[in-house]
Amino acid sequence: TSALKIENLRKTYGNGFEALKGISLEVKEGDFFALLGPNGAGKSTTLGIVSSLVNKSDGTVSVFGHSIDKDLAKAKLSLGVVPQEFNFNPFEKVVDIVITQAGYYGIPAARARERAEFYLKKLGLWDKRNERARMLSGGMKRRLMIARALVHDPKVLILDEPTAGVDIELRRSMWEFLREINAAGTTIILTTHYLEEAESLCRNIAIIDHGQIIQNSSMKALLAKL
Ligand code: ADP
Ligand code: ADP
Repeated sequence: TSALKIENLRKTYGNGFEALKGISLEVKEGDFFALLGPNGAGKSTTLGIVSSLVNKSDGTVSVFGHSIDKDLAKAKLSLGVVPQEFNFNPFEKVVDIVITQAGYYGIPAARARERAEFYLKKLGLWDKRNERARMLSGGMKRRLMIARALVHDPKVLILDEPTAGVDIELRRSMWEFLREINAAGTTIILTTHYLEEAESLCRNIAIIDHGQIIQNSSMKALLAKL
């Protein structure tokens, strides 16, 4: 089964800039996949389109067979998204941010509280559950974004530069967490410009440059070429 299938995806922004020039890629269920490439290559644009934060200009995207054009609600149910920018309400309590998100998926309140507790504990944020989100450190805010993205137990977790600006110790513990949920069956797709991060985590990669895929292979095959 393919968790994500992208065909001939194009994006031209309002100012005429062609950020994606027809990219195609497939991520299989259970994979740990990295979209690699330099700043400005088109990684965030790609993930933005997949998570319907950005409109595409052309091409098709489907998540577990659900087209984002025809079946957006079902595609969204399968997806958890961790964007680069913190976009929670900074004045809301940590636990409420996660529970509110569960509400968007129609998860009953008792179940929402249970999943929020589970993920906040897993991510080391349970002690902070009654703090306003603005009081958290940068690394904690990043982990809050991950807990929120997982509250509906999505089949695919998408993370845009998950460890940007995160110190090495926290980065390693986040890697450990991501490995754990991947081992439990969640497909993970992340963008990174740290080759080391992809090397440590990912089985398959695509390299994007100037809006085009320039390599799509296993991590092993990429390392053999370097
Ligand atoms: P769309 O084509 O998806 O409607 P727009 O071109 O209207 O997107 O731009 C969306 C927003 O992104 C605008 O607020 C714009 O100011 C901002 N933006 C413009 N250029 C850039 C850039 N190079 N990088 C990031 N954001 C940008
Ligand atoms: P990456 O995530 O690989 O760093 P992005 O997808 O953020 O790359 O950006 C790809 C290109 O599109 C960059 O040149 C960026 O400046 C441009 N871009 C991103 N958002 C916008 C926007 N809203 N309007 C115009 N150009 C944009």
